[in-house]
Amino acid sequence: MDHFLYRDGALYAEDVPVAEIAAAVGTPFYVYSTATLTRHFRLFDEALEGTDHLVCFAMKAASNQAILRTLAELGAGMDVVSGGEYARARAAGVPGDRIVFSGVGKTHDEMRAALEGGIRQFNVESEPEMDALSDIAVSLGKVAPITVRVNPDVDAKTHAKIATGKAENKFGIPISRAREVYAHAATLPGVEVVGIDVHIGSQLTELEPYRAAYRKVAELTEALRADGHTITRLDLGGGLGIPYTRDNTAPPLPVEYGQMVKEELAHLGCEIEIEPGRLIVGNAGLMVSRVIYVKSGQDRDFLILDGAMNDLLRPAMYDAYHDIVTVAEPAPGAAMQPYDVVGPVCESGDTFAKARDLPHLKAGDLVAFRSAGAYGAVMASEYNTRPLIPEVLVKGDQFAVIRRRPTFDEMINRDTIPEWL
Ligand SMILES: *Cc1c(COP(=O)(O)O)cnc(C)c1O
Repeated sequence: MDHFLYRDGALYAEDVPVAEIAAAVGTPFYVYSTATLTRHFRLFDEALEGTDHLVCFAMKAASNQAILRTLAELGAGMDVVSGGEYARARAAGVPGDRIVFSGVGKTHDEMRAALEGGIRQFNVESEPEMDALSDIAVSLGKVAPITVRVNPDVDAKTHAKIATGKAENKFGIPISRAREVYAHAATLPGVEVVGIDVHIGSQLTELEPYRAAYRKVAELTEALRADGHTITRLDLGGGLGIPYTRDNTAPPLPVEYGQMVKEELAHLGCEIEIEPGRLIVGNAGLMVSRVIYVKSGQDRDFLILDGAMNDLLRPAMYDAYHDIVTVAEPAPGAAMQPYDVVGPVCESGDTFAKARDLPHLKAGDLVAFRSAGAYGAVMASEYNTRPLIPEVLVKGDQFAVIRRRPTFDEMINRDTIPEWL
């Protein structure tokens, strides 16, 4: 559930009319709901009640400082995948001991920055990475706490571009080699094994792939303990899916996920970390856009919006479905008609939806893409020299611009002309 509902014939973000934000900041823009963010974080936190745990928000899903701070104030940790994200988390006030560092290609500079600034653990994904981390830690007079990310070779049954737990994926080390890799870790002076990490993919709509992966992690925990390693922490990754459509195929709830985690892993007595991104912020955000033109094609009508694939990439990148709603509530029983919903970018891939049934629309009308909070603003680019669109955060009846739209000059002046020109 979220806090974007119709009231008196108009779409609201909590207690603020979306049209009022559009008038103030211009379109297109992203708007997030504090109440929805808070609710989703708490659902995970409560799902793991009774176990020692930390919910680390996977901030690659949405990394605005205001969003991070909202979650950090609720007690969230952060899962970062780059030096930039580490710096963002710290700038938002997240202490190092609540930050886990994931990612298959951490550079030496990134490792050094996190070791110097403070880190809860590195989730290491290969032996060369482990060797490099050990050397860097020794050179700084430190010991890096690590888990090893294992690849359990389970099918997450999700979109191929966001499945990460099959042997063919680049992530982690094969679980069959885990004991060997942990034995190697034990010989390194600059790393200290604290646990095991696993993340099998994103937008998972069933619990069974998780259960299969976590069973393998439980077996591995026992095997590694028998080998003499200290395993006190299990990082279980993120990936729980959200409903993008209005049909009845909703993914499992955090409480069901938490129950399964306890069933499979509680007996090990480990501290549990999870790294949800999408489920915390996905349905907490809309992208709002205005109709520029309605154009009649040979056999269809095109709804041409001021928002485009550079602003919300998911449909072009993953064939993702986003529910599109009008900001003015349609009259009950209003006739629907199919539109191809497109942006102005010079690519046929700049198509948000084909033959989507919507109420009659005209130039100037506002529409909102639902479930756009995760992997929306963070994946945006300035393709076609279109400015990154503003982000707005709502809390009750207040709203604030949390990232403003850059001017054309700001974009142009980032380029520099060489002396010879
Ligand atoms: C992307 C990612 C996540 C978050 O996935 P969601 O589907 O957004 O929950 C968590 N952990 C790692 C290592 C990731 O790469």
